[in-house]
Amino acid sequence: MNLDDKSLYRIFRTRDARYDGRFFVGVKTTGIYCRPVCPTMPKEENCVYFESQAAAEKAGFRPCLLCRPELAPGYAPIDFRRNMAHRARRMFDEKISSEKPIEEVCHVLGCTDRHLRRVFHEEFGVTPIEYLQTCRLLLAKELLTDTGISMTDVAYASGFRSVRRFNTLFKKKYNLTPTSFRKKAAGKVPGEITVKVGYRKPFLYEPLLKFIADRAIEGMEKVEKGVYTRTISIRKGNKKYSGLLHISNNEKKSCLHLTISESLLPVLPELMAKVKNQFDLYASPEEIYEGLSPVNDIVPGAFVKGTRIPGSMDDFEICVRAIIGQLVSVKGARTTLRKFVEAFGEKTGDWYLFPTCEQFAGHESDITEMLGPLGITKMKACAIEGVARYLMENPGSFRDTLDVESKIKDLMEIRGIGKWTAEYISMRTMQNTNILLDRDYGIRKMMDNFPALKDKKLQESWNPWKTYVTVGLWNLEMGG
Ligand SMILES: [Zn+2]
Repeated sequence: MNLDDKSLYRIFRTRDARYDGRFFVGVKTTGIYCRPVCPTMPKEENCVYFESQAAAEKAGFRPCLLCRPELAPGYAPIDFRRNMAHRARRMFDEKISSEKPIEEVCHVLGCTDRHLRRVFHEEFGVTPIEYLQTCRLLLAKELLTDTGISMTDVAYASGFRSVRRFNTLFKKKYNLTPTSFRKKAAGKVPGEITVKVGYRKPFLYEPLLKFIADRAIEGMEKVEKGVYTRTISIRKGNKKYSGLLHISNNEKKSCLHLTISESLLPVLPELMAKVKNQFDLYASPEEIYEGLSPVNDIVPGAFVKGTRIPGSMDDFEICVRAIIGQLVSVKGARTTLRKFVEAFGEKTGDWYLFPTCEQFAGHESDITEMLGPLGITKMKACAIEGVARYLMENPGSFRDTLDVESKIKDLMEIRGIGKWTAEYISMRTMQNTNILLDRDYGIRKMMDNFPALKDKKLQESWNPWKTYVTVGLWNLEMGG
């Protein structure tokens, strides 16, 4: 952010939601720091500004209990110079309870510890270690406020290695023991685990939910009365954690509610990161709208402010959905996917988990025998085996990739994966915001109806948000 204090205070005074999560305001007289959308209004001379929660905490400020900085949405930069720092930050959000988060992130980004530290510090004003510690404390605070789980569970779920370490750090930072902090917060039902994940308004939840509902695989997921329910399985270290999660929208508070089974508590940070990814919560709607509103002159209603890209929770799952979806209707693909999940998915209670890549990698010789009976063509079966093998040989999630173009190329080298499939996978799993899916049937139809959309120069003016045009056109087609 390159704004002076005066402009920052003006933003704070108007509670401009566009800047939520992009900076924080420390109030010198109270020692508290706030989001720019906080209802409190301290005097200008008492305010100092920070780029991140961690930087505010490092300077000795405590999170405000009103606006709750731990719920501020993340921020995806369009400035590619800073891409690396932001990718690292997202990975840290997901890895706060990992054994060696910094090593893991350096490994994925292919950089040294020192380099990461420098880039990270430049962008956020803190080191990765300081950032991780703040994340852990903020998640612990959220769990103490919003759930009734035990202190030990709070400590481990938020990434602390021991309860004692958690107590010491919490007290040092917030001047309260976790126990007395919880007493101050409203009482919650023990056993229920619901956390909030914040976003920047406006947020079009309904079209996103409809996209998911139209493709929901019976037995594994469902959408009912505004709630998305699905199974998930996450591997961490040598263990696998599976269970059910429910997601709903709280528009008034600008956040999603995520309710999980107790079995998933050890992977809570990973799940929260997946939800952010699936619902595109890092997006800055105003900025995107500024770039794309002219599309509406060509196709009225093509881009609505707050439109989000449907993301993903699992790379293999999206790859299989994309492959099975090639050249068939959404409904047809859904039937095949249900059979696929029933045949190969592990059962958890009454539900199925989506099958894993381990089950198909290395089955080159018998893959058609495995998948043929489900009505999956030889070409698609080979593509599923190929992508499973690719994912086994290249661990690390697609989302963390810095070089989207070369990943798309890699995918297209797999037999049975063409440009449409590879690009579709990239927009759903790699946070690729700049794909105009012009080989897609629905998009082609829209372009035929509105030939002005085919203008290459016009398309270039949509950089770097072409994916949002794709989604906007899909939504319009779906609604109309
Ligand atoms: Zn506040």
